[in-house]
Amino acid sequence: MTFDKTKPVLVTGGNGYVASWLVKYLLEDGIDVHATVRDPANKKKVGHLEAIAADAPGTLTLYAADLFDENAFDEPMQGCEVVFHTASPFVISGIKDAQAELVDPALKGTENVLQAVERVKSVKRVVLTSSVVAIYGDAADMADAGIDAFTEAHWNTTSSVDHQPYNYSKVRAERRAWQINEKQDRWQLVTINPGFVLGPSLTQASASTSLATMKQFADGTLKMGAPELYFGVVDVRDVALAHIKAGFTPDASGRHITNSETLSMLEMGEALRGEFGERYPFPTRELPKALLWVAGPFQGLARKFVARNVGYPLAFDNSYTKRDLDMEFRPARATVVEHFQQMLDDGVVRRRG
Ligand code: NAP
Repeated sequence: MTFDKTKPVLVTGGNGYVASWLVKYLLEDGIDVHATVRDPANKKKVGHLEAIAADAPGTLTLYAADLFDENAFDEPMQGCEVVFHTASPFVISGIKDAQAELVDPALKGTENVLQAVERVKSVKRVVLTSSVVAIYGDAADMADAGIDAFTEAHWNTTSSVDHQPYNYSKVRAERRAWQINEKQDRWQLVTINPGFVLGPSLTQASASTSLATMKQFADGTLKMGAPELYFGVVDVRDVALAHIKAGFTPDASGRHITNSETLSMLEMGEALRGEFGERYPFPTRELPKALLWVAGPFQGLARKFVARNVGYPLAFDNSYTKRDLDMEFRPARATVVEHFQQMLDDGVVRRRG
């Protein structure tokens, strides 16, 4: 299958942390981008995209679309061969109603976008921003499965609306997308399954947990120590590039673990201390699991989360993605350092010393 790059593409949630880089690269490549956002008039949320578009050969058209609106995606999809569906809440703390705040928008949003794809016959390929958390739910799943690393063959079967609801929202949405895709043969589905995305942000208005987590390295949250948690880390610019390759590579297919390497929170702190010194409250040790088990619930960490994630190593096999999408990944420590530098440069974090 080949794609005509003179036709527009659709990016849902175009103002998000990840999608902003995707829109930037598409525009710089001369591709016309139709981007849906919740509020195109909100300059805080879309101003950075308009500034990028002003200097790029591709044109940007913004459309208003909420994931719950069944008919909002038809108009922006007109004439598109490739649809990038990135919009989905990535919020972990402060959730009161996980079904309404996470699962419904992920699942209904995916259904609404794909039902529009069914109606708009120009579409040939959909790239869905899924996640490694559609592959596993808790770090303990790896030991339970008796494997050394997760691959694209694995699915998250351990999350629910009550336990790891964000992970549950992502696996429900991805499974639904494959179900809808399998019923027809006009359009192909390719998924990008990133690990924990870090790296410089083009927007300060995103609610992404990626940005909130990096801020914790500066605000003193981790001063007394970090939980022994491991993340498959990937640079936001590599995630954007992987989407573009998944969109336009003729034979790209299937799911793609989009990760560079696994780092613990302490290793991230050590990388930051190596670059920025002792001036910031980077963690210097790991907190005992027993302490987290006792104190966790008071800090938003459920006991079951602590029990099944703290102290369990994680590993991912990214070889299929490297092959299928011809990808190389930036080293994770450099990504963490560049992210912190961007926060200093943009005044998100106050410079010390
Ligand atoms: P983000 O900056 O918060 O982006 C989320 C986007 O979804 C925003 O554009 C947001 O719009 C939109 N959205 C949320 N609820 C919506 C609704 N009801 N209707 C319409 N749009 C809605 O977070 P991100 O980190 O870039 O995440 C983007 C995608 O990557 C998500 O699918 C996420 O699950 C996936 N992902 C992220 C990571 C990571 O580590 N960051 C890892 C794996 C996968 P508003 O700006 O209006 O809120």
